[in-house]
Amino acid sequence: MPMDTPVVRYASSKTCSACGTKNEQMAREPVFWCADEQCGHRHDRDENAAVNLARWTALVENQEETLPLVAAA
Ligand SMILES: [Zn+2]
Repeated sequence: MPMDTPVVRYASSKTCSACGTKNEQMAREPVFWCADEQCGHRHDRDENAAVNLARWTALVENQEETLPLVAAA
């Protein structure tokens, strides 16, 4: 694999689309729930992931030189 190919794994289905908190306790539940009690966000798991991926894609496109790397679980 070429050195200039970024490999990013993003735990989109475990990350709150409202506050960005990663919920390591998420298993294969159909509904995402935020681990941050202050946030309390609940969202359809797939829709939550879609929001995260759309946001992340926009971020990458706007910051080509500083690709954010987020470790996946
Ligand atoms: Zn949250």
